[in-house]
Amino acid sequence: MSYDLIVIGTGPGGYVCAIRAAQLGLKVAVVEKRGTHGGTCLNVGCIPSKALLHASELFEEAAHGFKKLGIDVGTPRLDLPAMMAHKDTTVKSNVQGIDFLLKKNKVDPFLGAGKIVAPGKVEVTMNDGSGAKVLEGKAIVIATGSDVATLPGIEIDEKTVVSSTGAIALDKVPDTLVVIGAGVIGLELGSVWARLGAKVTVLEYLDRILPGMDGEVAKQFQRMLEKQGFAFKLGQKVTSVAPAGNGPVTVTFEPAAGGGGETIAADVVLVAVGRKPYTDGLGLDEVGVARDNRGRVVTDAHYATTVPGIYAIGDVIVGPMLAHKAEDEGVALAEILAGQHGHVNYGVIPGVVYTMPEVAAVGQTEEELKAAGIAYRSGKFPFTANGRAKATLHTDGFVKVLADAATDRVLGVHIVGAGAGDLIHEAAVLMEFGGSSEDLARTCHAHPTMSEAVKEAALAVDKRPIHI
Ligand code: FAD
Repeated sequence: MSYDLIVIGTGPGGYVCAIRAAQLGLKVAVVEKRGTHGGTCLNVGCIPSKALLHASELFEEAAHGFKKLGIDVGTPRLDLPAMMAHKDTTVKSNVQGIDFLLKKNKVDPFLGAGKIVAPGKVEVTMNDGSGAKVLEGKAIVIATGSDVATLPGIEIDEKTVVSSTGAIALDKVPDTLVVIGAGVIGLELGSVWARLGAKVTVLEYLDRILPGMDGEVAKQFQRMLEKQGFAFKLGQKVTSVAPAGNGPVTVTFEPAAGGGGETIAADVVLVAVGRKPYTDGLGLDEVGVARDNRGRVVTDAHYATTVPGIYAIGDVIVGPMLAHKAEDEGVALAEILAGQHGHVNYGVIPGVVYTMPEVAAVGQTEEELKAAGIAYRSGKFPFTANGRAKATLHTDGFVKVLADAATDRVLGVHIVGAGAGDLIHEAAVLMEFGGSSEDLARTCHAHPTMSEAVKEAALAVDKRPIHI
């Protein structure tokens, strides 16, 4: 039971770190207390939510989009159990894929709860009831991810007051859904149920949706969601959520700036106010691994914690809680442990909201550039002027390219539009290579594609778009 590396947690951070380390010749064990590998992302996060987003988007299209294209399917009927079965099958095939990959790379899996009992020693309480095993490793990686956060006094029962986990498993479409929190998860899962027929109201403490994303993008996107039937109550502080047996849940809120309270009743309330690092039962205090004031494991630039030989990556440390950030940290750390120079460029981590239209961003927002005093030029191009968007009836949204005023280096790209989550990657690659808006504008883009809007936005930085 002696390893070069023991990884605790097999989410996108942990399993990717384990595989990369094994590729580099390290003897690796992983410890996972959930019954399956893949972590939050594959089991209850990215993958199931995208399965439901895709299915519900097609349902909505069939009901309201097909007719305009000359397809009359009548009124589509929702088979929610079948939609949920699609989600479950998707999750199953993805988590089984991780089993296969771990085996292929000769990583030893231990299904059980891991606890660091001393530097170099992890005790695993096995899920199968076979007792505790002690694994020894030259290095230990904490990749235990995050868990749902809630507000004080709000109890999540996963039936009428749900977290994202309950919201991807409702057994019927609620007539009314209140979403607390206008972040990515709230808007994605709100979209799923709105498309399936729920009347969705979003309560948000801040005076805007999608905190952290470009302000202009957030404003326009809010209007698009409102057109889809979303109601937003911004600048509101939720003070209580009171379930009443099987009846509706009463949500009480008041203006964040002060003032009289209001109530709203809903069949289901989704609490989507964020996630918190998960370190329960890991024994961190006993071994002396420091955490910050938000409970995140403190690491240096090479993912080393305050205890030699113990490292941490992913949602459990500082930075955006995103699967691909966790994965890239997993790769970087494995390479560092194998004596290479692993590195993550935190300036170029794309963020995507998988709604319809999608929202995608990489690099800095206008607000961030202004706050940093960086002079920039902006180029914008709307999808209404893009031929492919017209042909597919996906004309909502735009591309915005922000480039340094002096050097023309692209500093940020922000997209609202169908397929934005894929379009953003040409910007990410460009930015990794320190490219300019002129580089983007001079790159030949296939016609007719949505990507042409990216090229046109780059041309617009120099005030010379062709198609507008
Ligand atoms: P996790 O995926 O949380 O994995 C940690 C694992 O560690 C868990 O399986 C846990 O059981 C295990 N563990 C914890 N403690 C122990 C212990 N003591 N012993 C053994 N095992 C332990 N991100 C995106 O990039 N794109 C998306 O579209 C996206 N959609 C999301 C949708 C939802 C609804 C949610 C909730 C999240 C979404 N995320 C998305 C976020 C993404 O899931 C996380 O950023 C990602 O899973 C973090 O990976 P991780 O490896 O750090 O941790």
